[in-house]
Amino acid sequence: MSEENFICRNQSCGTPWEQSEVVIKNEGQGPLFRCPLCGARNYLEVFEGDDGKPVYEQVDGKPFL
Ligand SMILES: [Zn+2]
Repeated sequence: MSEENFICRNQSCGTPWEQSEVVIKNEGQGPLFRCPLCGARNYLEVFEGDDGKPVYEQVDGKPFL
């Protein structure tokens, strides 16, 4: 089973990252990571996986609050 990649949403960057390559944090608008290359914010949704560990999925743009 391959790990799902994130892709930087900055169109001039578009670099794919594995979850292990980025730092996921929450600045109050849900989980996000900053692209290590260009610094763009990439927003994520978090789900609880079968094993109880968080699973992150990338969302387009900003999450609606
Ligand atoms: Zn980027």
